[in-house]
Amino acid sequence: MRQRLRSWMTFSAEPNVLLAQYGELKRQVPLLYTLLVLNAAALAYTHRHLAPVELTIGFTVLLSTICGWRVVRWLSAPGADIVTAVEAKRELVRTTVIAGVMSVAFVNWSFLLDQYGGPAERGHVALFIAVTVIGCIFCLVTLPQAAMVVTAAVTLPYLVYYILRGNEVLVAMALNIALVTGVMIRVLLNNFARFETLILSKDTLAAKQREAERLGDENALLAHTDALTGLPNRRHFFAELDRRLGAAKLAGDRVAVGVLDLDRFKPVNDTFGHAVGDRLLMAVGRRLAKVAGDGMLLARLGGDEFGILITRDVGRACELGQAICDRLAVPFSVDDHSVAIGCSAGLAIFPDAGETVHELFDRSDYALYHAKSTERGSCAAFSLEHETQIRSERAIEAALQSADLEDELHVRFQPILCTRTLAVLGVEALGRWTSPTIGAVSPDRFITTAERLGIIHSISATLFGKALAEFSEMPQAIGLSFNLSALDIVSQPTVARLIEMIERNGIDPKRITFELTETALMQDFDAAVRGIRSLRALGSRIALDDFGSGYSSLGYLRRLPLDKVKVDRTFVADMDEASGHNILTAILGLCQTLELDCIVEGVETDAQLASLRELGYRLAQGYLFAEPMRLDTCLVWMRRHTAGTGNQGDRLRPQLRIVA
Ligand code: C2E
Ligand code: CA
Ligand code: CA
Repeated sequence: MRQRLRSWMTFSAEPNVLLAQYGELKRQVPLLYTLLVLNAAALAYTHRHLAPVELTIGFTVLLSTICGWRVVRWLSAPGADIVTAVEAKRELVRTTVIAGVMSVAFVNWSFLLDQYGGPAERGHVALFIAVTVIGCIFCLVTLPQAAMVVTAAVTLPYLVYYILRGNEVLVAMALNIALVTGVMIRVLLNNFARFETLILSKDTLAAKQREAERLGDENALLAHTDALTGLPNRRHFFAELDRRLGAAKLAGDRVAVGVLDLDRFKPVNDTFGHAVGDRLLMAVGRRLAKVAGDGMLLARLGGDEFGILITRDVGRACELGQAICDRLAVPFSVDDHSVAIGCSAGLAIFPDAGETVHELFDRSDYALYHAKSTERGSCAAFSLEHETQIRSERAIEAALQSADLEDELHVRFQPILCTRTLAVLGVEALGRWTSPTIGAVSPDRFITTAERLGIIHSISATLFGKALAEFSEMPQAIGLSFNLSALDIVSQPTVARLIEMIERNGIDPKRITFELTETALMQDFDAAVRGIRSLRALGSRIALDDFGSGYSSLGYLRRLPLDKVKVDRTFVADMDEASGHNILTAILGLCQTLELDCIVEGVETDAQLASLRELGYRLAQGYLFAEPMRLDTCLVWMRRHTAGTGNQGDRLRPQLRIVA
């Protein structure tokens, strides 16, 4: 029992319960004091002519003053949302103590008044005490400690007093009151326990809600963050682009949208492995995160592609884009490797370059493509010139899609010669397309367009079919070189189709060389190697075309099953300079070490031929000998050339070139 009593008299240890009690009391205590004053005034009134004035008016005034002070204190006290739990508890304790003191004072005052007047007045005193104590208990439902102190301080003396006075009716009344208040306290304690549980469960609910919100925020963050680099991801980028574009339209602002693409990332990934590639991307992400900030959003769109969104200083967007490219050109240190990559960027500015997200993004991609093909490591903005190009590209796309391939495609042959004897050792077949609507389109352009449109395989097959048919009319001693697209060599069905065409044509596969550029191999190294193996298994040869114009040629040279290398014509053009000369020497050395045949392209002058011969190059191709020619022209050229070189004995001179 004592333990129970102690537990009832102890204040809650839960801060939120204390604060809730405080909040409730703040509303009810003023009512409690008002009730006290009114009841006391009523009692003083009925005793006004009977009791001394100090007991009636004097006490009422003193009481009203104290109660008034308490009411003001409570009304002006800070709200439960401001006070701390410690302050709230201090106030609860103070209220309990004051309630006890006041109860004692009241009871004694009523007993003093009880000395005056007849039975009616005495009845009023008894009623006053009973009603007041019940009223107080009601007002103190949320502070059971005070309610119990009040009950104890009033009902016990009340009972003892009337027993001593010996009035049966009043003793019965006192007993009644003691019983009623006892039950009320019990009910109050039960209610308070429920109040406490309610507050605590509200707390847990709020905590759960906060946790759910936190998890929700975390999820939202994850859904918008790129896991590898920690930068915003593609989803976030496009959502932001959409939002900011909407805002810019309303405010009449400009916005720059950009795409950033790492240069030489793929070779790094292929050479050092994906783990190093991933760490490199993380390092790139860290550098980009430092640049991003107010007015500039940088996000990873996927692979080695990043998005830029510039909303402030849009006039300087190109400068900002270039600064990022320069920053990424500084070598990275990854796992003790110093890795030098770079990046190119393309920008499109709203509203000049387009109105919609799709349009702007496409155009920034187009500008990027131009930066990559004209000046790697630079940032280009979409311009009017690009607009015209796009239009002509669309025209090429449309014409190519509706082209009659058999009719519109044809091949030209350019001879490959021995630099010493000038004997023709082979021909390279070069594709040509003349569209009835837009005229002749250079192979560089229509091949890339066909690749983009996904119709390259049928174009390659058509050209190869024509090349084989025409090649069958050429002398048995020479070989045929045919260019394959990046997409052809990685496609098993296309490779199978090429093999089937060779077999059907009855041409010895050993006479055929397929030329591949490095980009072909970089797309999907393993698939490319599979394709190469199938063609070599047949007996055909593989040449690496445009050698030296890419990046990691050395790595590819070692790892690929190759037979020949075709040296890019830019080296021949530069061979007058010491560096060009040295590179040609180095490439030849490399090819000899790896036992690869080496063909130089783009030989245009006698001097170049002489130098190449001196360096030890055995095979060459170029305008000096002949431009690509139609089959009949090529056959005539070959006959005259053979006759010409045959007549010239030791001093070999090529026949003047014949233009097709
Ligand atoms: P490529 O394979 O490097 O072909 C050599 C290109 O250099 C040809 O351009 C040829 O006309 C040109 N050329 C030959 N000798 C000289 C010279 O002395 N000086 C200069 N400046 N150029 C010379 P073409 O025919 O315009 O072809 C361009 C590129 O288009 C080719 O480069 C090749 O990558 C691609 N291509 C051509 N035909 C086909 C094809 O049938 N299939 C595929 N996939 N690509 C082709
Ligand atoms: Ca070629
Ligand atoms: Ca080439």
